[in-house]
Amino acid sequence: MSIAVDKPAKNAPDENAKIVADATCTFCGCVCDDIDLKVVDNHIVEAKRACVLGKSWFLNHHVEDRPVATVDGQPATLEEGIERAAQILSSARYPIIYGLSDTTCEAQRVAVSIADWIGGTVDTTTSVCHGPSGMAFQGVGEVTCTLGEIRNRGDLIIFWGSNPAESHPRHFTKYSLTPKGMFVPRGRKDRTCVLVDVRKTKSAGAADIFLRIKPRKDFEALWTLRALAKGLDMDAAVVEEETGVPLSAWQDLIDRMKQARFGVILFGMGLTMTRGKHLNSEAVLALTRDMNAYTRFVCKPMRGHGNVTGADNVVAWRTGYPFGVNLSRGYPRFNPGEYTTADTLARREADAAMIIASDPMSNFSQPAREHLASIPYVALDPKETPTSRSAAVAFCTATYGINTAGTVYRMDDVPIPLRPAFDSPYPSDFEVLSRMEKRVLELKRSG
Ligand code: SF4
Repeated sequence: MSIAVDKPAKNAPDENAKIVADATCTFCGCVCDDIDLKVVDNHIVEAKRACVLGKSWFLNHHVEDRPVATVDGQPATLEEGIERAAQILSSARYPIIYGLSDTTCEAQRVAVSIADWIGGTVDTTTSVCHGPSGMAFQGVGEVTCTLGEIRNRGDLIIFWGSNPAESHPRHFTKYSLTPKGMFVPRGRKDRTCVLVDVRKTKSAGAADIFLRIKPRKDFEALWTLRALAKGLDMDAAVVEEETGVPLSAWQDLIDRMKQARFGVILFGMGLTMTRGKHLNSEAVLALTRDMNAYTRFVCKPMRGHGNVTGADNVVAWRTGYPFGVNLSRGYPRFNPGEYTTADTLARREADAAMIIASDPMSNFSQPAREHLASIPYVALDPKETPTSRSAAVAFCTATYGINTAGTVYRMDDVPIPLRPAFDSPYPSDFEVLSRMEKRVLELKRSG
């Protein structure tokens, strides 16, 4: 199962090369589906149109030299791994399934089914990034659109707590700033870009207006705009003291928002994961709703992982809720804070887990990591990670998008098909989970 590590050169003779046109990059939520890959001997040697992050994703891809499964750290066959994983999950009293944002919708769907059969909790990495937005959507609703509409219509683009220049490098050029659109024919010249953030990031260089607000004051800033949208009088000294930005700058922004033909707010984790969390997300959604009394205005979260939007969609179609869903009573219950994995682990509640395409051992709190290390858990990942290293059962799986077909959702909820570059010797997450589901069902029915 090992492969040669010497990579063919980009200028390898073309007769050995395969071109995969319009491949999909799953590195970030932009999910660019216009990448032309040149593949030589199962190595991607060129990724046309990919940004620096996308190039790194494709060109540094290599198939790991690991057993397809390990059980208690020892190499095992796929069947042995599936048997042990199914035993762990079906005999647990409070099993949790977590991760899911870097795999296909098809695999996500099976993972939710397993959670249902075992009466477990299913949660995704949304709970540690845009979970507050997921809660706010349920409370306020979402005035939304596709990235294509932003490209064709958006004339005022506001990024709030987001740094696309570094996190989503093609967002500016493909969708939000420079492309010429049907109703913005001169591209960048027809758009005004505003950045609101607590620090001057690389994205500030691309903005026409940068408003540097005080840290942890997003809620106050958004409610200042809501008040100004309604024409209320504000105390200039209080506004500047609270938000760090003069009232005149907020008034100028709200005037521009009212005059826009198609306004867009794109918000990131700088808004959702700071003080206020879901109240901040509710405030930005409510401001967007308010603006529709004057003009067309939409609001979208800037999603990070390649298929985190798919995870929200799949968990929502299967259970009615986007993340942090408990199925132990035979029907879904949604309660972030109670059923979100970082909390469930930190309170030492779960007695087994399955982690799919995620690495909580590298980024959860110490109490959560300690508890995860103390319970039997299953890990699926194309790469070896601290999480897969400590798993009772670890599966090495094929990389979605590069080795496996399937569906992912772009950050604007548009489903995009994957066009794999070459086969992997390892099974896909979908294959492992489907076989595991079958075995879990057999065990449940016989027990
Ligand atoms: S913007 Fe994101 S999806 Fe597009 S090529 Fe770059 S990393 Fe890949």
